[in-house]
Amino acid sequence: MKKLYIETLGCQMNKSDSERIAGILSHFGYENTNNEKEADLLIINTCSIRQLSADKAYSQLGVWGKRKKDKPNLKIAICGCVAQQDKEKIRKRAPYVDLVFGTHNIYELPELIKRIENDEKVCAITTKPVIKDQNDFKIIRNASVNAWIPIIEGCNNFCTYCVVPFTRGRERSRRPEEIITEAENILKQGFKEITLLGQNVDSYGKDFNNPDITLANLLRALNKLDGEFRIRFVTSYPSDITDDLINAVDECEKVCKYFHIPMQSGNSRILKEMNRRYTKEEYYNIVFKIRNRFKDVTITSDFIAGFPSETEEEFTDTLKAMEELELDYSNTAAYSPREFTKAGKMTDKFIAEDIKYERLERLNAKNRDLALLSNKKFLDKVLNVLVEAKTEKNNQIILNGRAGNNKIVHFKSDKYKIGDFVNVKINKAQTWCLYGEPVE
Ligand code: SF4
Repeated sequence: MKKLYIETLGCQMNKSDSERIAGILSHFGYENTNNEKEADLLIINTCSIRQLSADKAYSQLGVWGKRKKDKPNLKIAICGCVAQQDKEKIRKRAPYVDLVFGTHNIYELPELIKRIENDEKVCAITTKPVIKDQNDFKIIRNASVNAWIPIIEGCNNFCTYCVVPFTRGRERSRRPEEIITEAENILKQGFKEITLLGQNVDSYGKDFNNPDITLANLLRALNKLDGEFRIRFVTSYPSDITDDLINAVDECEKVCKYFHIPMQSGNSRILKEMNRRYTKEEYYNIVFKIRNRFKDVTITSDFIAGFPSETEEEFTDTLKAMEELELDYSNTAAYSPREFTKAGKMTDKFIAEDIKYERLERLNAKNRDLALLSNKKFLDKVLNVLVEAKTEKNNQIILNGRAGNNKIVHFKSDKYKIGDFVNVKINKAQTWCLYGEPVE
């Protein structure tokens, strides 16, 4: 077997793609290694959501390129969003790269790898995805208990700051039967949690023009599968969360009471500039509706600091929204201009770097306060925790896991193992995690 090392940057969708890449290549004589120095094939799966991630990809390629001097047969490949976006340009910056392949070319890998093994330099970027039944290939999953299933890829929303519609293309849903077969296989392998992935997961099924193919109905179908397991879904687009989806989450005992709903800004003018299809008030209504329906639900969000033209007052609306909505946790970032996007061309309205990063600091401070407040609400409560990892400290075994509402929980015990569901009474709350002890 040849050795394959994959470095994955970016979102869960990229991580899931890497698992599929490893699975496909395992049929063709490559086995995964965690040691990049022993690899015969190095692949970097890139993210271009922010300039920093793209720069990281090129800097990693530079390090790998030097390695070719000592190991001339080493092959280097780059895929993911930077590859899709930069295409042939990559060859100019990093001529030692053997293969550039796009987000739609993963299933052509067997052919592409054969070509680079014959010393050809290959750039395979299609804009039209190749539709394949993904169950035809093995998937090498990295996580111990959680398995990701991409259910929809691409995005039709064209938020003015985002490259995803350019790098991942338009929305394409997978057939429900294919997803259910993949879930059945996952459960047979002993996984205890399934996360349904999509850039805009609530749009699932719209491209089939069949009103019965929806995320809500997919959750209902998966909930019927036998076994003790959980189902999650990310990422939701606020105005695409339907009452039927909320009903399905309520009806299905295996579906976690957790919603990740990026708001991006707490100001309606900025939301319009971002081409987000909701106002601040509409976002509030969605959050209140979910909070009224589910006890102990976790709602997380994403925010951008310093979007072009954002005033101090408009930024303050974002801080206010985070607080008024009691968001449990948010991913935050300073605005990063991206090629091809509408906002990237608003150069005359860009916010100065120092102001942008000062706003980001304030977002982060608010985020930390709210995360602690949210965690403290669980003191003395019992949460059902799925054990995901085990560590040892001072001769004591510490189990780490997550509750259904996505809260991270640590507890000491030598009685349970990875994959067990354990009731844990919370006795300590910190900003990013909870501590407790198991109860019967
Ligand atoms: S919804 Fe907007 S931010 Fe999210 S992937 Fe689509 S275009 Fe990008």
